[in-house]
Amino acid sequence: MNEKCSKYEKLFVSASKEELEKHLQECEDCRLEEESQQKVSSLLDEVKMYYYAKRKKRMVRLRAACAVMFLVFSLISVTGWALNDDDLLDTLKYGDTLSAEELGFPVDSYGLLMVDE
Ligand SMILES: [Zn+2]
Repeated sequence: MNEKCSKYEKLFVSASKEELEKHLQECEDCRLEEESQQKVSSLLDEVKMYYYAKRKKRMVRLRAACAVMFLVFSLISVTGWALNDDDLLDTLKYGDTLSAEELGFPVDSYGLLMVDE
């Protein structure tokens, strides 16, 4: 029994397409090698398609998330500019209007600002 032909790789890399095909017609081993290469390459194509489809889906989701974030931020900004009222903004941000004490000023027992003389 002959040893397995090992020319396939060499011909595939360095020979012309015609030379490779000529050898494939003569050589059973290399034909089998060629077939398995075709299988691998079609498998790779399949994986590639699956990968790109998945990536495309992810991009769509990312874009949707960006659009939502953009909408939320513009809504907050526009609301802030349109209603340029500190008390209203405090209420929106902190749930209540901030007192002088909460703002860090010195206050007396009535919550009124204390002013040094
Ligand atoms: Zn061969």
